[in-house]
Amino acid sequence: MAEFTFELNDDQKQVRDWLHGFAKDVIRPAASEWDEREETPWPIIQEAAKVGIYSLDFYAQQFFDPTGLGIPMTMEELFWGDAGIALSIVGTGLAAVGVLANGTEEQIGTWIPQMYGDPGDVKVAAFCSSEPDAGSDVAAMRTRAVYDRAKDEWVLNGTKTWATNGGIANVHVVVAVVDPELGSKGHASFIVPPGTPGLSQGQKFKKHGIRASHTAEVVLEDVRVPGSCLLGGKEKLDERLARAREKARAGGERVKNAAMATFEASRPAVGAMAVGTARAAYEVALDYARTRVQFGRPIIDNQGVAFQLADMRTQIDAARLLVWRASWMATAGKPFTSAEGSMSKLYASEVAKKVTAQAVQILGGNGFTREYPVERMHRDSAIYTIFEGTSEVQRLVIARTLSGMPIR
Ligand SMILES: Cc1cc2nc3c(=O)[nH]c(=O)nc-3n(C[C@H](O)[C@H](O)[C@H](O)COP(=O)(O)OP(=O)(O)OC[C@H]3O[C@@H](n4cnc5c(N)ncnc54)[C@H](O)[C@@H]3O)c2cc1C
Repeated sequence: MAEFTFELNDDQKQVRDWLHGFAKDVIRPAASEWDEREETPWPIIQEAAKVGIYSLDFYAQQFFDPTGLGIPMTMEELFWGDAGIALSIVGTGLAAVGVLANGTEEQIGTWIPQMYGDPGDVKVAAFCSSEPDAGSDVAAMRTRAVYDRAKDEWVLNGTKTWATNGGIANVHVVVAVVDPELGSKGHASFIVPPGTPGLSQGQKFKKHGIRASHTAEVVLEDVRVPGSCLLGGKEKLDERLARAREKARAGGERVKNAAMATFEASRPAVGAMAVGTARAAYEVALDYARTRVQFGRPIIDNQGVAFQLADMRTQIDAARLLVWRASWMATAGKPFTSAEGSMSKLYASEVAKKVTAQAVQILGGNGFTREYPVERMHRDSAIYTIFEGTSEVQRLVIARTLSGMPIR
């Protein structure tokens, strides 16, 4: 019988401590500067590449950790350092997961290394699914991919929005409509290789939080990519579309679309990011409450403050357990029969928003200033209930999974 434990093994503890050291010594001290600059922190990404934290090898090792805890542990530590900088470091991973989830062995081997570059010449990648009129409603996507059989090329046209690293990426993964009749089942993912004509950056967004992470529109005008850039290949796509048409005719079963496969795999990882930000704010608040004296005693000496900290810590630990469960299930090949991935993302993201708000409150006036990091952490935490499926969408997924009903 396998041993049951919540403890990380020695190798994991070593990696966690190493990541924590980088987050504490390199990321956290730079957080305020890059938040104010609202620019991609290239020097920090380069530093991460030099020590091996920004590399395909490192993420592959964590991704294939048989316990499933490698990725959540990595996310929690890096986002504990700072969410904006950490997203600049791990944002490439969403595009890489898009290729891992839908690509062939050859595509994985060709494109993922180009997403990261190397320590002397670091690169980033972008995953482009959202559009101005297709956020939560992925089926409303309009970006079109049309096959030019004579040249064995796909021609992409459309506008993507909210793309992390959009326009500055070496490799873009673009989700597009190949069969408009099939709604979200008629989507496919494409690699747009470096320097492909027709792809340009549109508006770069000025944001409320995670301001060090670049978010922009990506405009695709007659972008031609070779047939080999269709993730999974043409044969697999044709089979999938034929099955979807068959099921649509029979009025039956849902077929997973390309973007959804990516999001399902990445939701617990987003939950772990939220746990990292929540833990960071909680620790600052705990320290502050121990040292700030009012009415002749530390403010933690009041139940009104101490109980808030007790709740904060309890919720953070509960969120981590949901994230670890979902990550373990995904790695063990256990299907999310109760939408456990969505549960973990929903709960952890809501906890991060709540806990960071409480941290601001515990720091009083100081919490409201940019002299203390909880103000930034509170702004940053707002993203977790929005990207990779809003909280409302997570609730829809959970409710539909539990009830089997098409809840709206
Ligand atoms: C900083 C940032 C980075 C991002 N990075 C990426 C990226 O790299 N790649 C990418 O493809 N996308 C990315 N996104 C996009 C993100 O995934 C979308 O913003 C998100 O899916 C929500 O879509 P929307 O903004 O269009 O909101 P909408 O879908 O318009 O939703 C607006 C509100 O309506 C609610 N709502 C919508 N439908 C329902 C419903 N049926 N029931 C109940 N409530 C509903 C939503 O929950 C939300 O509160 C990013 C977004 C941000 C802000």
